Amino acid sequence: MTMAKITAYLGKEVGSNTTLHEMDAREILARYHIPMNRYRLTASAEEAVEAAEDIGYPVVLKIVSPDIIHKSDIGGVKVNLASEEEVRAAYEDIMSSALQHTKKENMIGMTVQEMCFGEAEILIGMKRDSVFGPTVVIGAGGVMVELLQDYSLRICPVTREDVAEMLNELKTYKLLSGYRGRPETDIEAIIDVVMQVSRMSAELEDLEALDLNPVLVRAKGKGVVAVDARLTVKQTGL
Ligand code: ADP
Ligand code: MG
Repeated sequence: MTMAKITAYLGKEVGSNTTLHEMDAREILARYHIPMNRYRLTASAEEAVEAAEDIGYPVVLKIVSPDIIHKSDIGGVKVNLASEEEVRAAYEDIMSSALQHTKKENMIGMTVQEMCFGEAEILIGMKRDSVFGPTVVIGAGGVMVELLQDYSLRICPVTREDVAEMLNELKTYKLLSGYRGRPETDIEAIIDVVMQVSRMSAELEDLEALDLNPVLVRAKGKGVVAVDARLTVKQTGL
């Protein structure tokens, strides 16, 4: 197994216990083939409209700033934008909300992203426990996290069988397994992602925590897609 560092991959120092902004997080996740949606970073409403036309409506607009970790809490996410007018209005809205929480010079921009749809929203996360080392968690995603308190946790590394068992423990499993005429979802694709997260926890020595929330799960054979990623880097010995 090769050990690696996030800071080396990014080619810059990021300080201890730093949560990477979305662009940097995506770069690391792409190296591990974690499927994410298409996006473009933009610096003006004009550019955002251009990107939306390129990606195709509907789109999602999100703030990118190291000062803003929970984007939707401060009005930093607008989903389902279906026209140029909606993109321009969303851009102005997000800008004025964001400026109450960060300075202009700390705003990296806004991403315009492909709007994705799934049968279910889950979260997949990793955290280093001071006693047990890296642990992986799967749970109900999006806004349901706090509401349902539905999650399953294991110590890394995990096997595919472990992950299948974790999924089975979730109340949300019903939503994934074709409950009452709903389509069966792509369980194998979920397992693929969790296996990669487990691998990341072993290989990336400065990876402190990872949070893919939500991961949208599509019907069987159609895959999964993470539309948000948070990645925390810890200081390692020099
Ligand atoms: P944050 O967690 O920082 O508030 P997210 O990027 O997770 O921001 O966006 C908030 C919510 O918006 C998500 O939980 C999801 O329900 C929805 N969402 C975000 N991006 C997309 C997307 N590309 N397609 C569909 N829904 C999205
Ligand atoms: Mg999120």
